[in-house]
Amino acid sequence: MNVLVINCGSSSLKFQLIDSKSENVIAKGLCERIGIEGSQLVYQRPGAEKQTTKSDMPDHKEAIRLVIDALTAPDTGVVKDLSEIGAVGHRVVHGGEKFASCVRIDDDVIAAMEECSDLAPLHNPANLIGIRACAELMPDTPMVGVFDTAFHQTMPEEAYLYGIPYRYYEKYRIRRYGFHGTSHFYVSGRAAEVLGADIGELKTIVCHLGNGASISAVENGKSVDTSMGLTPLEGLIMGTRSGDIDPTVIEYIAHKENKSLEEVIQILNKESGVLGLSNGLSSDFRDLEADWKAGNAGGERAMKAFAYRVAKYIGAYTAAMNGVDAICFTAGVGENSPTIRSMVCEHLGYLGVTLDQEQNQKRGEEAIITTPDSKTKVLVIPTNEELAIARETCAIVEK
Ligand code: ADP
Repeated sequence: MNVLVINCGSSSLKFQLIDSKSENVIAKGLCERIGIEGSQLVYQRPGAEKQTTKSDMPDHKEAIRLVIDALTAPDTGVVKDLSEIGAVGHRVVHGGEKFASCVRIDDDVIAAMEECSDLAPLHNPANLIGIRACAELMPDTPMVGVFDTAFHQTMPEEAYLYGIPYRYYEKYRIRRYGFHGTSHFYVSGRAAEVLGADIGELKTIVCHLGNGASISAVENGKSVDTSMGLTPLEGLIMGTRSGDIDPTVIEYIAHKENKSLEEVIQILNKESGVLGLSNGLSSDFRDLEADWKAGNAGGERAMKAFAYRVAKYIGAYTAAMNGVDAICFTAGVGENSPTIRSMVCEHLGYLGVTLDQEQNQKRGEEAIITTPDSKTKVLVIPTNEELAIARETCAIVEK
């Protein structure tokens, strides 16, 4: 079955058409600047040149219409018509406590997703717009929602509760939810395969280090803790997000700079992280590393704080699982930065981690980057959230 995987953001839409049998990507692309002037569709088939088409996209429905047109175009398309697309899998950011696994989307599910929008006001409304647009344009194609939060629903209470009055959990469901679940699930599963180990007996820590970054403790295939919380702002220092801070900092900045709570939260989301620590230099680790190499303080400061926070969480999650067998690096930084991986591993001598310097130079490919005698294994596993969504979608539709 061909599964169309859709990841709908507020002004963008990424898609991949995946053959669930061979697991090959048949076509993929991106709609950019939806609802903004200058919108365009980028469309790519394996082995063919990337096509970029400027086209007006006032809304997501038009974007999906253009995606369908591209996929079914007589000359450059990959399917004859919509009957060759067996299902659509939608990435949905927040599933709250309602969704502990993916679901077939119907009106009740959409209503439940709407209730979760409160918890992810930046993401869920965009995901829902994409779902509605698909429902209109492809009414006969089954749709499945795959939630970023679902994999972490196995966390025990002591891991997901905050130390605030319990009534706020009861009344508003304020708790740790965690995100990037599809990636943590995929990478921990793949690590077990690469190691030839039984996932049911493995303690894994997955470091998803991209622009957004989170880390998880996966014990016997189940997430038992993760660093993002009620929203994706908590945890690691990220590209532009602060991660953990003393909550009082918010009040202090608001007071000193005469800003509203919303404005300070915006600063913590958009102007903080390694971007903020490097004094606004960049949120991209390639720029930070170049800056450090050039002998400047900003890049060095940001990268050291970033790596230190990752190492600290690895320590915490080793304690959470009473041990760790494998540590995985994934996403843009995790897959491509030998420097960050090596800086993190410098803190892990106590776990018996011995980095293989040559293996660690690999970028963007699966590798075990520790020596054969290293007590704890460290791996690079490129994430593939689209494939994981396609697999889950196919399993639900074929059930
Ligand atoms: P997201 O999906 O959260 O937007 P990605 O997982 O795509 O993020 O990661 C993007 C980040 O990966 C970039 O901002 C950059 O910091 C980092 N990155 C990409 N390539 C490299 C590289 N070769 N070396 C170091 N960092 C890289």
